[in-house]
This record gives sequence, C-alpha cells and structure tokens, in this order.
Amino acid sequence: MLSSIRLKSLSNGSAVLRRLQSTLVIAEHNNDALAPITRNTLTAASKIGGDVSVLVVGENCSKAAAEAAKLPGVSKSPDTFVRTIYAGNAVLTLKAKDKIKVVSVRGTSFPPAEGSGEAKTDAAPTGDFNAPGTTFVSQELTKSDRPELTAAKVVISGGRGMKSGDNFKLLYTLADKMGAAVGASRAAVDAGFVPNDLQVGQTGKIVAPELYVAVGISGAIQHLAGMKDSKTIVAINKDPEAPIFQVADYGLVADLFKAVPELTEKI
Ligand SMILES: Cc1cc2nc3c(=O)[nH]c(=O)nc-3n(C[C@H](O)[C@H](O)[C@H](O)COP(=O)(O)OP(=O)(O)OC[C@H]3O[C@@H](n4cnc5c(N)ncnc54)[C@H](O)[C@@H]3O)c2cc1C
Repeated sequence: MLSSIRLKSLSNGSAVLRRLQSTLVIAEHNNDALAPITRNTLTAASKIGGDVSVLVVGENCSKAAAEAAKLPGVSKSPDTFVRTIYAGNAVLTLKAKDKIKVVSVRGTSFPPAEGSGEAKTDAAPTGDFNAPGTTFVSQELTKSDRPELTAAKVVISGGRGMKSGDNFKLLYTLADKMGAAVGASRAAVDAGFVPNDLQVGQTGKIVAPELYVAVGISGAIQHLAGMKDSKTIVAINKDPEAPIFQVADYGLVADLFKAVPELTEKI
C-alpha cells in the first residue's frame, strides 16, 4: 500500500494521520480474480484515508481489474498510525516524515471491504516492461482446495512435534473438516515436513484468523510474531510449560497423536 501521509505528533505522544493526498492499494490477483486479502487491505486503506486507488498490475488481467473497479470507493480523514517492532513484542507509534510512504498491513486484522461501488477504471500505460538480462521462464503455483493461509478464517498449524511430513495428514484431515488452511512452524518447514509457503512467523506469513490452532508448536517469539493477533488461539502440546500456552485462549496438554484424531472424530 503506497500512500502520501502527513503525521502530526500530539502532546500525549500518539501520532495522528492528518491529511492524505492519496492511497494506492496494490492488488493481489491471479489475472481472473482478486485475492480476498485485497478487500481486507482496502479496509485498512480506508482507515488511513484520502482517495484510495487500487492498482492491478499484470498481463491479461482485465477480469481482475474489472472486479477492482467495482470495489467500494473510500475517502475518510484522521487515525492512529502504529506498527509492531521486535518480532511483535512492542508497539511503536511513529511520526513519518517522508512524503511518499510504503505501508504494509496485516490484512486479516481488517475485515474485507463489502459490496461493490461504481465501476471506474483508468487504463495503465502499456509497453515493454522486460528488465534487461532477465526473462520469464515459468511460474509454478501450489494448488490447494484449502483456503489461502493469509485469508483463512481458521488456520491449523503443525510444528516439529508432528515428527514427519506424513503425520501432517492428521492436520489436513482436521483442516478439511473445518474449512481451514494449514500452516507450519519454521522448524517443521526446515525439517522438510511441508513446503515453505506454509511457514507462519517473523520470516514467514503473518496471519490473524478467527481461530488459530497450534499443534506441537512450542511458541517461540518468531512464531508468535506471525499469529498472535489471531482472535482465538488454541494450543495442543504435551509440555505444560510450553510458551505457546502463555498466548493461548484454550490449551490442551496432551499427546497430539491422540488428541488430534479424537478432535477430528468429534467435529
Ligand atoms: C531470525 C529467525 C527467524 C525465525 N522465523 C521463524 C518463523 O517465521 N516462524 C517460526 O515458526 N519460527 C521461526 N524461527 C524459529 C523459531 O525460533 C523456533 O525455532 C521455531 O518456531 C520452533 O518451531 P517448533 O515450535 O515447531 O519446534 P520446537 O520448538 O522444537 O517445539 C516443538 C514442540 O512440540 C511439542 N511436542 C513434541 N511432541 C509432541 C506430541 N507428541 N504431542 C504434543 N506436543 C508435542 C514439544 O513439547 C514442543 O513444545 C526463526 C528463528 C530465527 C532465529
């Protein structure tokens, strides 16, 4: 999200967004449709304010552009501008001086923009945008019937405690019953249990679903940085001292190989 923001520092130390000239949301899409997270980002942009535009970049992406054109238009004045630092362990209220700012948001912390507005598009200039010395070879996308991790309402993540990639089938079965996405800790990714696009955390994806279920995950701060804004957190771990229980709303001290099949059966 790119925006031109002026911040004014108040005497109580908080910063307020003054007047934005404009905010540009860069759409995520697959040419045919916008990724749902774009609607969440639009809500975040509307809170920042100013005239919000959505940029759809790509080739043969007219369908996604048509969808973007119908997103409800937004224009709205001041709000507090804060960001997390130290892997999410502290919150910083900042005064930014640069005229043009590049802002990223935790999409699922915002509800998706609903409905559709008046269709309005400006075609972007066409041309040869190839970068010298580089050529497009191919694109390989992970195909899954499960919801996309950053947009899912329910995420079930497995950690090193899963012990193998095969054992992740336990989580896939549960996830399919719950319409959930499957995530993982970095330890699980590094061990080769699952591909790295499932990683949640400081150096992975940041998620904030309605429900996050951490299975066999200890709760290192780098993992918490990616999921602790989830609305409800459930942890299953055999170690009652595991740090994940400090952020969990519901904790189950149990062997996951017993607890997960029981849970799956009961749902
Ligand atoms: C710069 C940097 C960036 C990082 N970025 C990330 C990141 O983005 N995401 C991330 O996740 N990590 C990240 N890490 C790694 C992080 O520090 C931890 O090492 C990692 O999160 C640990 O993963 P884990 O909880 O799966 O493994 P462990 O810490 O080994 O925990 C495994 C847990 O499984 C439990 N368990 C074992 N067997 C069972 C069983 N049968 N039933 C129930 N519970 C069981 C254990 O009690 C334990 O709590 C980063 C580290 C660094 C230094």
